[in-house]
Amino acid sequence: MLDVKGVKKKHAERFGAEPAVFLAPGRVNLIGEHTDYAGGFVMPAAIDFGTLAAITPRDDGRAVIWSENYQEQVSHQIDGFPKNGGGHWSGYPLGVVKILREAGFAVPPFSLTVQGDVPLGAGLSSSASIEVATALAALHLAKSDPAREQIAKLCQRAENVYVGANVGIMDQFIACAGAENHALLLDCRSLEYRLAPIPNNVSLVIANTMVKHAHAGGEYGIRRSEVEEGTEILRSHRPEIILLRDATTQDLEKWGAEMPDNVLRRCRHIITENLRTVAAADALAAGNMKKLGDLMAAAHASYRDDFEASCEEADIMVEAAQRLPGLIGARLTGGGFGGCTVNLVQADLAVDFARRLHDEYRARTAIDAEIYRSHASAAAHAV
Ligand code: ADP
Ligand code: MG
Repeated sequence: MLDVKGVKKKHAERFGAEPAVFLAPGRVNLIGEHTDYAGGFVMPAAIDFGTLAAITPRDDGRAVIWSENYQEQVSHQIDGFPKNGGGHWSGYPLGVVKILREAGFAVPPFSLTVQGDVPLGAGLSSSASIEVATALAALHLAKSDPAREQIAKLCQRAENVYVGANVGIMDQFIACAGAENHALLLDCRSLEYRLAPIPNNVSLVIANTMVKHAHAGGEYGIRRSEVEEGTEILRSHRPEIILLRDATTQDLEKWGAEMPDNVLRRCRHIITENLRTVAAADALAAGNMKKLGDLMAAAHASYRDDFEASCEEADIMVEAAQRLPGLIGARLTGGGFGGCTVNLVQADLAVDFARRLHDEYRARTAIDAEIYRSHASAAAHAV
């Protein structure tokens, strides 16, 4: 639970001054998986779980950060941060401040308290949420108000170069530009986006399988090289195919036979996933929930069969959801090989749905899943 009053009070007790407080949300991706690095489309929504960042200036030249979650404090000279921030939670906020200062924002010495209720490392982007909350707090002290798109890019850069995680722009972008009761269709190449309304009788039910298979990292790298191999083959016939996003199903019909079977199937997933993701935004805009649910089911099947990035537990979670009253659509969300499924559920049935999904999953796997309910939340803001 986020506790604005509590964070303000703790910050004031620890650092002796009343802070300004900012909130940035986590997110769930409704559809569009492994399309980001192919320059394609994703459609996340911000969720009711997020990170608070409370900030006050200091006059001793230092950046002091306390994490309520880790019950730990770090302290550095504002111009003397460690060279890189991999391997410790403080890398995320320190990276953001370092990148902001390098980009010319005059972030002064400060005290910062962070507290988050996004489950850490569960694929709901606690990382972007702490980054963007920190960025808003630091920019407040710097008396700057850059465009949201620029804030997202700077936070992504902090995670890429300071933390050392090769992530795309989706997580930071939705935290910066999401809107309450909307999903956001993002073109990962141009960063053009449009909002698509999620009706208020629809709930987001996020089911944590509680597994993340150990080979996930290696498989991620393999998928990326398979996709690159397929893209090169298509490019040799049609040089205007820079990224797989530029290829069509017709291209694949013509030249797919030149690819090894696994490469063909990876490419087919991404090309059809881009089509499904844009169609899903259109279905939401038209209020066509049946169509949206069908697209999510097709996306899961493609992720499982063509991209081979699902796992037994995630398939069980999705199958179980499909038999429960109130389901609109379910699929595995995130990088694959475990993590969370996302379920769109009729709001009046969501509590019951969550309970039954938990019980079904436990009956079949003996695992106690965490199930989170949310609505589509607002972008980062002052609180
Ligand atoms: P995800 O983004 O899916 O939650 P990541 O591995 O990308 O997983 O990011 C999780 C990491 O972000 C945590 O291990 C921690 O280092 C950092 N983090 C997120 N929220 C907080 C917080 N409130 N306090 C300190 N560190 C946090
Ligand atoms: Mg993350």
